[in-house]
Amino acid sequence: VDAYAAELLEGLNEPQREAVTHEGGPLLVIAGAGSGKTRVLTHRVAWLVRTGQVGLGEILAVTFTNKAAAELRHRVGDLLGRSTRGLWVSTFHSSCARILRVEAERLGYSRQFTIYDSDDAKRLLKRVLDSQGADTKRFTPGSVHNRISDHKNRLRSVEQAAEQAAGFYDRTVVDAYRGYQQALVANNAMDFDDLMGRTVDLFERFPEVRERYRNAFKHVLVDEYQDTNPAQYRFLQLLCMDDPMHLDPDDEFGPLAGEEPGHRNLMVVGDDAQSIYGFRSADIRNILDFEDDFPDAKVVRLEQNYRSTQHILDAANGLIEHNANQRKKHLWTDLGAGDPVRVRALPDDHAESRWVVAEIERLAGEGAPLGEMAVLYRTNALSRAIETALTGAELGYQVIGGVRFFDRAEVKDVLAYLAWLLNPANTVAFARIVNRPKRGIGDTTVGRLLAHASTLGVTPLQVLDDPAAAGLKTAAIRSVGAFAEQVHELREAVLAGSTIADLVEAILRVTGYRAELEASNDPQDEGRLENLEQLHAYADEFDHEDASAEPDDERASLRPLDRFLQQTALLSDADQKGDHPDGTVTLMTLHNAKGLEFDSVFLIGCEDGVFPHSRAIDAGELEEERRLAYVGLTRARRHLSLTWARRRGLYGPPQSQVPSRFLRELPVEALDESSPEALSGGVQAVPRPRYDAGRIGRVGGGGGGSTSGRTLAELGLRRGSELGSAGRAAAGGAGDEAPDVVVGQRVRHGKFGEGDVVTVDDNVIVVDFDEHGERRLIAGFARLEPV
Ligand code: ATP
Ligand code: MG
Repeated sequence: VDAYAAELLEGLNEPQREAVTHEGGPLLVIAGAGSGKTRVLTHRVAWLVRTGQVGLGEILAVTFTNKAAAELRHRVGDLLGRSTRGLWVSTFHSSCARILRVEAERLGYSRQFTIYDSDDAKRLLKRVLDSQGADTKRFTPGSVHNRISDHKNRLRSVEQAAEQAAGFYDRTVVDAYRGYQQALVANNAMDFDDLMGRTVDLFERFPEVRERYRNAFKHVLVDEYQDTNPAQYRFLQLLCMDDPMHLDPDDEFGPLAGEEPGHRNLMVVGDDAQSIYGFRSADIRNILDFEDDFPDAKVVRLEQNYRSTQHILDAANGLIEHNANQRKKHLWTDLGAGDPVRVRALPDDHAESRWVVAEIERLAGEGAPLGEMAVLYRTNALSRAIETALTGAELGYQVIGGVRFFDRAEVKDVLAYLAWLLNPANTVAFARIVNRPKRGIGDTTVGRLLAHASTLGVTPLQVLDDPAAAGLKTAAIRSVGAFAEQVHELREAVLAGSTIADLVEAILRVTGYRAELEASNDPQDEGRLENLEQLHAYADEFDHEDASAEPDDERASLRPLDRFLQQTALLSDADQKGDHPDGTVTLMTLHNAKGLEFDSVFLIGCEDGVFPHSRAIDAGELEEERRLAYVGLTRARRHLSLTWARRRGLYGPPQSQVPSRFLRELPVEALDESSPEALSGGVQAVPRPRYDAGRIGRVGGGGGGSTSGRTLAELGLRRGSELGSAGRAAAGGAGDEAPDVVVGQRVRHGKFGEGDVVTVDDNVIVVDFDEHGERRLIAGFARLEPV
């Protein structure tokens, strides 16, 4: 080996070198997080090229996300010091799409076949279900699509699925599968699962094609192998292994009894402890059984972790030990003990966000770049409070693999309703909501209504009452009439001066938006519901805060609904506002965090039912959830904090929460001295916001501050510790001091008048107002004066 290639082995430990220089044949690198698996894979690609064993174009490297693929390509380019053109680095799906673009005609598709994303697919499936007379309340397109997807990922044809179908539900799914597949072919279209399945088909039915690709790719390398599903496994087998026409008939995906060996140059790297896609048919056995499937495989285990300090590793190792079905691994690091892991309890999601943002500001103040910080969470709906707090603190952030909260379709729909109710001349908002949820008002009808309104010089609202005049057909007239009734009900609520929270509630109820999502079995719709409940909670806070804010010029000129819409527009637009020289904080779900690393990681929402997710608890899928937690903890290099909120309203009004069982499973030795307190009675002191949690561009102003309108909570801060922990929590302010909010006390509020304090709980004060009844007020925002 020449010096030029040997250079690639510098900065690798012994087992890593063994893997990089492996002669050929099946190779498994199985090792814990941060042990350099991805690094080994990139170095091996460079090694194969530099040692002249193969050309760049003869290597196929596969991973799971586009971000990871781009990262791989980049790293290989850096190592080789030249362009990586010709190298196939991509996701499984993109590789297959590329092959099928060339070969599709053999399968009866044209090369210009369309790829349906999951929305397209569900729309098509909906039509099929309708045409088959299926009850789409019970058989929602989302849930049926999941089932079909599972069949496809397990390479079950319609016939095979039919053989296994037991019961009415399964048979309906099989019928839908058959109809859906015919419809896809008729549309010259494939869904994502077809990309895998059709490529496998292609290789199985046309040995000469398989042979061609087998010769084209002399080496195949796979990252995150623990998350492969059976279709992907089969694809790899067909590309690398023995003649698949001699499959052992007793074992669907088992060892091959081939005569002509394939090149067998398959390298897979992964970590069984990070298998997190079981719900998408990934099969952890692929990695666990690799040695049985390929008895001649070389197996490399890596034990040194180069990413995290010891405390972080201890926390992660201690946690994963609670999985009964987990192979033991021993990870060590020589990066030193480092900072202990921190567990913190906060009164509610606002306090949690404020705490995280204050920590981010503190780290940034010490010179840490924002680009090295990540906030991770179990479900997307958890990002909202953090997004608001980051925006309020004028810190840049990006949401990876998801859409920023105020950009999510369902959130935008409700905001568009509000915008249109406020301003019926807003035709963009009108066009967005007129058929959402679907109410049989198609594009043609919308076009006619808009044209008619424009001819008359009136708003779309004004033509709704006489749809016949717009030249609509009977069915459309009926649909528009029903819509007009809903609109009138909503307009009345606006004119009556309802709070924004009540308006949001009315929109969700009157339009049937919520009912439609509730009837669905699609987990994505569950997420949408969570987001809408979050929006409702956000509006509720806005109402309270707005009611108690001081009047100023801006306030005088704008109605609350105007202000609300302006504020949310700014929140959804915040990332376009410019470049952030220090980078941006990364927000993402745990699933999207796989393979990545950050100096500082905040894992929020660690409450039972949130994480582990209630659905997983019910389904007994705790081990996969725990692996997900392991993935989260092991993203951190230096600082790791886990937070939970005593009250959170993810699925509706705020409710008491209990800490995640995963928090209790962390070994105490890895935690700092304040952490145990967070698992018992205490709450973390929350810095007072220097911004107004809900408002943009008013740093330092807003909710706290002026001497006249000081909150009780703030007043109490000076009084010392006369109260117990409930009162302390209500402070939302400095830790050991307590406010003098006392149950039974008489108070006055700017908008609601006088009333009695009913409860003081966490960060919320409930007051029973003489005129307005019970109201929840956020301590720190509510301006209450003792009477
Ligand atoms: P995950 O399971 O999270 O995907 P991984 O096993 O793929 O982790 P890598 O991302 O490859 O781990 O490596 C983790 C970190 O350790 C990276 O920053 C990498 O550059 C570094 N690293 C790996 N091996 C070495 C080494 N021998 N010397 C120095 N740094 C290393
Ligand atoms: Mg990796």
